[in-house]
Amino acid sequence: MKAEPAETPKSKPRINIPEGAMVILPLRNAVLFPSTIMPLVVGRPASLQAIEETVRQQLPVGFVGQRDPAVENPTSQDLYNIGTAADILRMFSLPDGQRQIIAQGRRRFEIAEFLQVDPMLIARVTMVEETIPQTKEFEARIVNLRQEASRALSLLPEPMNELKTTIERIEDPLMLIDMIASTLDIPTAEKQELLATLDPVTRAQRVSEKLARQIEVLELSKKISEETKDSMTKAQRQYFLREQLKAIQKELGEEDGKGVEAEDLRQKIFDAKMPPEVEKEALNELNRLQRMPEGGPEYSSLRTYFDWLVELPWSVLTKEEIDLPKAREILDTDHYGLEKVKKRIIEFLAVRKLMPEGKSPILCLVGPPGVGKTSLGQSIARAMNRKFVRQSLGGVHDEADIRGHRRTYIGSLPGNIIQGIRKAGSRNPVFMLDEIDKLSASFHGDPSAALLEVLDPSQNNTFQDHYLAVPFDLSQVLFIATANVLDTIPGPLRDRMEILEVPGYIEDDKLAIAKGFLIPRQTVENGLKPEQIHFTDEAIREIIRSYTREAGVRQLERELGAVCRSVAARVAEGLTEPITIDAESIVNYLGQKKFFNEIGLRTSLPGVATGLAWTPVGGDILFVEVTKMSGEGRLILTGQLGDVMKESAQAALSLVKSRAETLGIDPEVFRKNDLHIHLPAGAIPKDGPSAGTTLFVALVSLLTGRRVSKDVAMTGEISLRGLVLPVGGIREKILAAKRAGITHVLLPELNRRDIDEIPPAARAGMRFEFLKTVDDALLLALESNGASSGFEAAERPAADAIP
Ligand code: ADP
Repeated sequence: MKAEPAETPKSKPRINIPEGAMVILPLRNAVLFPSTIMPLVVGRPASLQAIEETVRQQLPVGFVGQRDPAVENPTSQDLYNIGTAADILRMFSLPDGQRQIIAQGRRRFEIAEFLQVDPMLIARVTMVEETIPQTKEFEARIVNLRQEASRALSLLPEPMNELKTTIERIEDPLMLIDMIASTLDIPTAEKQELLATLDPVTRAQRVSEKLARQIEVLELSKKISEETKDSMTKAQRQYFLREQLKAIQKELGEEDGKGVEAEDLRQKIFDAKMPPEVEKEALNELNRLQRMPEGGPEYSSLRTYFDWLVELPWSVLTKEEIDLPKAREILDTDHYGLEKVKKRIIEFLAVRKLMPEGKSPILCLVGPPGVGKTSLGQSIARAMNRKFVRQSLGGVHDEADIRGHRRTYIGSLPGNIIQGIRKAGSRNPVFMLDEIDKLSASFHGDPSAALLEVLDPSQNNTFQDHYLAVPFDLSQVLFIATANVLDTIPGPLRDRMEILEVPGYIEDDKLAIAKGFLIPRQTVENGLKPEQIHFTDEAIREIIRSYTREAGVRQLERELGAVCRSVAARVAEGLTEPITIDAESIVNYLGQKKFFNEIGLRTSLPGVATGLAWTPVGGDILFVEVTKMSGEGRLILTGQLGDVMKESAQAALSLVKSRAETLGIDPEVFRKNDLHIHLPAGAIPKDGPSAGTTLFVALVSLLTGRRVSKDVAMTGEISLRGLVLPVGGIREKILAAKRAGITHVLLPELNRRDIDEIPPAARAGMRFEFLKTVDDALLLALESNGASSGFEAAERPAADAIP
């Protein structure tokens, strides 16, 4: 026996193995055939002990297959009863305590009876005597088997030359059969069956059947792998050709860097995971790029194109998750007030949660600047776990701004939409279309038509940007629009959108926003700790009143930032105690007041009236000044008045003339004088009919010499018959009046209902009176100085006041 034990334990007592008996080692998932060599790993403690013992006593081991490989400690019933006696050629210790052995199969045996089960299996065995059948059929079968075996070996993907030579050379046919049986790729149970087939003729026949089947399988798999190889070689061929091309280009002195760049681009194209048709187009363009001379204008413009193409998030999506309570929390943490808007946004999110694929309306947030439209959009994105991106449409008047220019234009780029998508870095961001009311059409084409396509769910999955020239899927984008005013939004676009008004803030709102949001933010941004600076409420109110005049809170935030900055500078200089900012100290930080109540000053003379105007940036007060000089009855209008306002001024004058007598105005005045109406703040264009009442009152004030009360402001269109007609923007106008210190507001009777929309806090301290005719306005607005007025206090019309 040739066992060469690596280590031989000497101390343990010998276990007695009687004559004719053998230590049995169960084999899982394997069959050891006589004449074959097999490496095995022994791990079970009982088996380890058995191996050690047989090696020590230099005895053969009986390997017997285990019926169920899952059984951990097999007993006699779990084993087959035919096995192979083997010598252990080598034994190695493995790091994990297991042993690897190399076993050499010698002879078949049959188990007669088990003598011992514990601590190892020992059985009495009968060796199987085998003789070679001396028939022609058997001889022929062996010849055939040898041929088939070498054929099978040649079909293997990895040729096993050694085995092939062995099979060709073995003389003993029984050895050959066992050798082939051991190499067959068949289930263990089938192999065991071959081992247990004791008649050599039957065994040879069965092995040859199984071999035939194996050959079929091998042939089939070879065919399949050759087919795959065909397509492989195509790619390889291309690669090869490209390499050649590179070599040729190098030879011709064309930079090799280009080839490297092209390879890099090719990889990026694959990495971008574009839709198949886009990828195909990209690869076509890449081929074109490779043929172009580098450094030419065409090359660099195509190169820029690729930068766009590969950097678009073709397949990047963030996972949308809408958690309504969390969304509510996000909206509340980011914004003070705005209850109506927040409620609508939550409803919008709830519907999306229930019907993620459903068509949802496009929200359009309408309101003056600085009221939090953008920041609402950001919160929506956060609440939906989407990226946020914003593109301004202000000043867009060309279709190409939306869709991009074709690449044939020098310096062309993709349009706003694709630019935004690239900025967002995902295919499903919240996309804010800012200032959609500032879109305008021109001879270059109507951008709103292109925008309609962008917003249309049935078309936008194949949005075509002229520059890209391949479709991009916008269907997962959530568009939100913002606007300052509604009426300039093109009709068809407006129909697509659900309008959410975000109104301007009253002073109390601003105070709360400043305390809860703006001051904390500015404190941190300027490197201060919250305990280092404190604003009193009065200080904040002073900033709101005297340093800002706006519907939103942008200017307010800037001014607060300026205060924080100067405090930060003092802290940097070594100041240690906390600073309290009160109303009196504001001037030290922000300089002289920027706004003060100029109304008293302005209206101290007859001929000036205060109107209320509504502008895209919120409401504002507006002065109408009238003066007369000797002339020939002309009307001069200055202050950038629009056509409608000019007509309105004409109408007011006609109305005054027609009532001259009642009003006690000498009709000669109109003939001998020119009248000049001026609306200061000339740089700001003014238009609309709503200044009619103010114009009329200012004219009468001048011509009758009666001053307009300084706490009064008014709005209302007039008819030639003297009726006061309703106007829009009441809320913003009233907020503006309040900001400017007006306490008495005259409104058209037909706007009475609009007052209800205004929060009581905003109305506090103000008196509203409603006008049916211009006469009501005169009575309420003009001071009675006893001059040429035709009215007495008793004659006051039935205009009732709301305090
Ligand atoms: P818009 O887009 O309407 O012009 P922004 O969203 O840019 O306005 O708002 C300007 C600033 O005012 C932002 O810093 C915003 O956070 C803040 N702001 C506006 N409204 C509120 C509010 N209700 N609560 C908290 N902060 C607000």
